[in-house]
Amino acid sequence: MAEILPGITLVEGVDPSTHVFLLKDKGSSWTLVDTGLPDAHVAIAAYLKKQGIDPKSVRRILITHLHRDHVGSLRRMIELTGARTYAHWIEAAFINERPKYDGPGMHPLEPVAVDERFKDGDELDGGIVAYHTPGHTPGHTSFYLPERKVLFTGDLFFGTDDGPVLTTPEYTLHTLTAQVSARRMAELSIDALLTYHGGPYLRDGSAHLHKLVKGF
Ligand SMILES: [Zn+2]
Repeated sequence: MAEILPGITLVEGVDPSTHVFLLKDKGSSWTLVDTGLPDAHVAIAAYLKKQGIDPKSVRRILITHLHRDHVGSLRRMIELTGARTYAHWIEAAFINERPKYDGPGMHPLEPVAVDERFKDGDELDGGIVAYHTPGHTPGHTSFYLPERKVLFTGDLFFGTDDGPVLTTPEYTLHTLTAQVSARRMAELSIDALLTYHGGPYLRDGSAHLHKLVKGF
């Protein structure tokens, strides 16, 4: 099992440029963070089977943002698992294509209605804090586990060999806003910085971010 931290698994078999994470909840259920490109559901289902994880035990899907490489398999994963889905209220509207998104990056393939719309700072079950980190997209969210000092960054950051950087302006709605979000995340105490593309960084997350935001 590609367990990168206790209870946190990087799903194997999906497109290697994307990091779909599976988080063990207290008890026997699981939380999926983002769902990968369209067709990633095939690899995710195969991975669950290989690990002996009942798809129905995946009770929750957290979505960082609307881009297709994050929600591409959302509908299929809901069908497979019956999980409840969570997104920031702004992003939930764009994932459901009401209205259709018109910013940069790959748009959703199909509208999906999100079950639970959270707002900035909401604490979800299991002590996960949802931080609205706009810039890359309007309702982009990073998910923080304060007890474990882990941050799922979505596309706020992109992992390189020299450390995390902001995702390139080509795919980002408003880079200055992303800088503000990055500064806010740099105020958290972070060990593991779990980036979706590139990385992830399993230690020294705060130090990485302090170095990054100094350059803005
Ligand atoms: Zn993105």
